[in-house]
Amino acid sequence: MRLNIAIDGPVGAGKSTISDAVAARLGILHLDTGAMYRALGLTALRKGMDPQDEERIIALCRELDVSVRHEADGQHTLVRGEDVTGLIRTPEVSMAASTVSRYAEVRKEMVRIQQQLAAETDMLVDGRDICTTVLPNATAKIYLTADAEERARRRFLQMKEKGEEVPFEQVLEELKKRDQQDMNRAVEPLRQAPDAVLVDTTHLSFEETVDAILRIVEEKRHG
Ligand code: C5P
Repeated sequence: MRLNIAIDGPVGAGKSTISDAVAARLGILHLDTGAMYRALGLTALRKGMDPQDEERIIALCRELDVSVRHEADGQHTLVRGEDVTGLIRTPEVSMAASTVSRYAEVRKEMVRIQQQLAAETDMLVDGRDICTTVLPNATAKIYLTADAEERARRRFLQMKEKGEEVPFEQVLEELKKRDQQDMNRAVEPLRQAPDAVLVDTTHLSFEETVDAILRIVEEKRHG
């Protein structure tokens, strides 16, 4: 049977890095769905489009041709064959991704691609609507979160390490603003699926979190 693991959660819960580690331990691929919305957000900004302009964003999404490739160093995200992996992590692209992801037509197209990929191979998929919409029949479903202050603190330290000196208050503000938008949109808002297991990492280390998720997966797989 296909092994599909679904992980949802808010900004900065560590979904990407934790998912990478869990997938590696299980020997399966990790699909970062946020990167696909980011690719659309980036392309809109590059073309000078307003992410709020639903009609134009939907038209852009239809011709976007976003794809992913899994390589030794992880997922690469492509737009019409161009590797945009290194360009999609800026705060501007984060916010644009959150805005363009509100549109039903955009979500429909992204979900279609994600479901197709997950049907082809064993995969761990992370995002906002994976447990609820993309993989409702996933082997294991996890809602990964932590206190907003703690998530902002981790993001702040991560950015500092990369030489990006942004005040903590600004990191916290941006995180809360994006969560607000993601949790309150009309279409597939971020919420914990009723059958998803809550993993609160506020007081857990990276390794403890990975182990907790692996235990949940084992339980779901083998009872
Ligand atoms: O996970 P990440 O922060 O990279 O996602 C960027 C944005 O894309 C999120 O803020 C959210 O608005 C959107 N997203 C989504 N559904 C997903 C994954 C991401 O709406 N499955």
